[in-house]
This record gives sequence, structure tokens and C-alpha cells, in this order.
Amino acid sequence: MTVRVCLEPGCPTLTRRTRCADHERAKDKARGTRQERGYGADHEARRAEWAPIVAQGGVQCWRCREVLDPALPWHLGHDDHDRTKYRGPECVPCNTATAGRSA
Ligand SMILES: [Zn+2]
Ligand SMILES: [Zn+2]
Repeated sequence: MTVRVCLEPGCPTLTRRTRCADHERAKDKARGTRQERGYGADHEARRAEWAPIVAQGGVQCWRCREVLDPALPWHLGHDDHDRTKYRGPECVPCNTATAGRSA
């Protein structure tokens, strides 16, 4: 087993893994935060499924029924009452309007 310097730039700690214990933990923590916010791998996968459909045009925002412009950014909306459920693509104004409400 070789010992090498921690992968984190500027960290001189020697480790048998890719990062020292401190930076390993920091990485895990960052990953956890991302998933607590509801934007984990599952979210990315759902978005990737919708992306080509939205790009074709004619997809309505599930909140306001406005047809999404494929040239504009869009969000994948969650159910207001159950954050584990996805409702579908929504326009940016609708997403912004509800962002502050979900606490
Ligand atoms: Zn380190
Ligand atoms: Zn909308």
C-alpha cells in the first residue's frame, strides 16, 4: 500500500486513500447536503428524461399551463405537499414563486 498526499489542493496530509480523513468527511458532507435539498441523482435522472421532450416544444408548465419555450431555462417541479414526488417541468417564474413557500 502506498501512501500519498491528500488530493485536496494545498493539503499536505499523507493518506492511504485519495483524501485525508478530514477532507474525506468534508466531501461526504457536501454530498449529503445536496441530497437533503432534494436534488440528488434521482432528480438529475428525471430532468434528463424530460430534457429532450421539453426541447421539442409544446410541453406545458404543470402549474400555470403556459407552454414552455425550449429556448428558456425550466425547472423540474416537485409536488408542494410531497417533496419526494415530481410533477413535471415548470417555468422559471412559477418555480421562483414557490421557492420561498416550501419550508
Ligand atoms: Zn486533506
Ligand atoms: Zn408556470
